[in-house]
Amino acid sequence: MKITFLGTGSSHGIPVIGCNCKVCKSDDIRNRRLRSALMVEIQNNRFIIDVGPDFRQQMLRENISHINGILLTHAHKDHTAGIDDLRAFNYLQKAPVNVYAEKRVIESVKREYEYVFAENRYPGVPELNLIEISKQEFSVNGINIIPIRAYHNKLPILGFRFGNVAYLTDVKTIPEEEFTKLNNIDVLILSVIRPEPHIAHLGLNEALELIERIKPTKAFFTHISHVLYPQSEIKKYVPLFVDSAYDGLTIEL
Ligand SMILES: [Zn+2]
Ligand SMILES: [Zn+2]
Ligand SMILES: [Zn+2]
Repeated sequence: MKITFLGTGSSHGIPVIGCNCKVCKSDDIRNRRLRSALMVEIQNNRFIIDVGPDFRQQMLRENISHINGILLTHAHKDHTAGIDDLRAFNYLQKAPVNVYAEKRVIESVKREYEYVFAENRYPGVPELNLIEISKQEFSVNGINIIPIRAYHNKLPILGFRFGNVAYLTDVKTIPEEEFTKLNNIDVLILSVIRPEPHIAHLGLNEALELIERIKPTKAFFTHISHVLYPQSEIKKYVPLFVDSAYDGLTIEL
């Protein structure tokens, strides 16, 4: 299995428009962060978790011409604004794109992309198969995917586990009963927006407490805002097995 961080930024991305802070103005390319998304390549299948506004750039950068499925964590635009660009894969694969999401997210996609689902559709809109999932394990082409319920302030969202890799973005809390899905994790990817707690996101210390409980072999932060420490400094604040991810980082397992 190979995972690629397509984007590791929070909803604004980094640099933030008009910001002159040291992270936004940094020369370290690792501090330039597109909106968060993860690519998972496993047994000749390629899945992408979230399709944000930078999806097109991410697909071009990674030279992707085939995908087997999209998984959506929740309906916020920094995770769904790139859905129109899934058209490219309709042309390439001559088939609709399978999009796996919860009922609430499917309803939101249908509302927000009303023209895609209209009765008299404009020719050239994306062709999507919206497939409803719940927090129960499901399988695509023989690959088991375990959704993990989490809360983004009060909004129920999903994280996903593939093998021993778990991806949880836009998380504030995880219900007690979901922790059994996080046993024996090799790589835990967790959103951390800034050093201080946020109403809908983990702050740095809250994230470290969760990591302490889940005990992965390695943990990476994503969905990072310009207020979190720059990539070159984060190691001063976290245990050795924890680090910030950055755009383009790949991990083979
Ligand atoms: Zn987000
Ligand atoms: Zn900034
Ligand atoms: Zn969100």
